[in-house]
Amino acid sequence: MTQATVVYRFKNGLYINLTNRCPNLCTFCIKTKWHMQFDGHNLDLQGKEPSAQEILDLLDKELRAAPAAEVVFCGYGEPTMRLDTVLAVGRALKKAQAAGEYPSFKIRLNTNGLGSLINHRDIVPDLRSAVDVVYVSLNAENETLWRKLLRPAPGYEKGFAYVLDFLKGCAAAGFDRVAASCVDNTEADPAAVRALAASCGADFNEREYLNEQ
Ligand code: SF4
Repeated sequence: MTQATVVYRFKNGLYINLTNRCPNLCTFCIKTKWHMQFDGHNLDLQGKEPSAQEILDLLDKELRAAPAAEVVFCGYGEPTMRLDTVLAVGRALKKAQAAGEYPSFKIRLNTNGLGSLINHRDIVPDLRSAVDVVYVSLNAENETLWRKLLRPAPGYEKGFAYVLDFLKGCAAAGFDRVAASCVDNTEADPAAVRALAASCGADFNEREYLNEQ
């Protein structure tokens, strides 16, 4: 197997593959369907999660080679499983940007919205100092459907309420953009998910259902 990719370019962004761990097992998750591959990259870290410094070194190389519109915490896993690393990398990038070391870019967190449950505290104030944009995979308009589609691990069954609280907290915290998303072609009603996102003060992104490759 080829070596795992930690930082990769996709469209106009630089994406960080931080962890493969996630408390959900979504019916639509592509990490298993696509055998941990994405756009020619092997994202299977095999448990060897990169340190903040390793990530910063890789980003530095990429950002000096070519600009990027955004740097995204994403990967095949939930970034807030490694909240300390997200905060360390995001804050270091913001400091370097303020010092004029890099051209301007936004820092985005892609998350399932369970970060405050995972970390046993409200993580929104800390995130505010490390990222500019928050995208939350909401994917259902009620708790029953959320459990059915996202299949949370034991201890996370009541996570839907945490996701909504997280969305509201982010929307109130003054990020540049906060958006919830819904994968299409599931039992969820994108219009209802959009309305729920709006009631939390968030924007909405509909996402394509991705099939086996
Ligand atoms: S929350 Fe994201 S990484 Fe986790 S199982 Fe669902 S789609 Fe996959």
